[in-house]
Amino acid sequence: MSGVVLLNSCKLCPRNCSVNRNDGKIGFCKAGAKVRIARADLHMWEEPPISGTKGSGTVFFSGCNLQCCFCQNHEISAEGKGFELSASELAETFLMLQDKGAHNINLVTAAPYVPHIIEALDIAGDKLTIPVVYNSGGYESIETLEMLRGYVDIFLPDLKYYSSELSSEYSGAGDYFERATRALIKMHELVGSPQFDENGIMKRGVIVRHLVLPGCRHDSAKIIGWLADNFTPQEILVSLMSQYVPMYKAKDIKALSRRTSTFEYEYVCRLVEGCGFDGFFQQRSAAEDKYVPEFYDKKYY
Ligand code: SF4
Repeated sequence: MSGVVLLNSCKLCPRNCSVNRNDGKIGFCKAGAKVRIARADLHMWEEPPISGTKGSGTVFFSGCNLQCCFCQNHEISAEGKGFELSASELAETFLMLQDKGAHNINLVTAAPYVPHIIEALDIAGDKLTIPVVYNSGGYESIETLEMLRGYVDIFLPDLKYYSSELSSEYSGAGDYFERATRALIKMHELVGSPQFDENGIMKRGVIVRHLVLPGCRHDSAKIIGWLADNFTPQEILVSLMSQYVPMYKAKDIKALSRRTSTFEYEYVCRLVEGCGFDGFFQQRSAAEDKYVPEFYDKKYY
């Protein structure tokens, strides 16, 4: 039986909307019955062991179960830009990216489409030989992650907030920290500690991303503290991002209407280093909206 039957009462993520997506109903993430993407291309802006020298084969899915008020990809996460594909077309897309030289297939915000992705990966079968990366806002259900066992090699989740006030106000998810931390432990159980090939390209493991928000360095400190209490530096990599720029609804929220300061970012960098985590620190120059790629509403490849 196809996993798409799960859309009859969708509980693929912690929102548990229980809507019948196969009958045209739309839940919080705005995803429909068919898989919908807005871009599939090589992408150089991920962490070095993911982008490598040739790029990450990145597929941007339309819709999102968080709807963050500062989302830089709001055109696709909230406003529906994108085009529909069948599972066979999605499999062909993965193989097209592999043919272009991608180091991996990078599934961005894919939770609403996990059944479609599994179907596409089954169709691609042994022809797809590069690792599969699951690139997520972190708000994931354990059951859906379990479906990905054996399909995903690398998890690239955000851990955005510690405070439920912040997660509620900025992403409408008061239970974010509880859900995202349980998901993170599950992700590590599924793929284990980081492994690399002879060229330093990641083959398996978890990279936890954290974007330092303006005025939120103490919340960031609690997140780094939780990581240090729950993982050794050998078990995960940490990617600390400074790219926040006020975009979308955040322009109208006073606390979010400025960039993260150098002081705030470096304060959190020192905590990550102090805990002994290996990982990545983003150049401050990355905080530009020019890093948002172009999205499409018709198949263009
Ligand atoms: S995937 Fe979308 S429709 Fe399904 S439970 Fe999550 S938010 Fe709701």
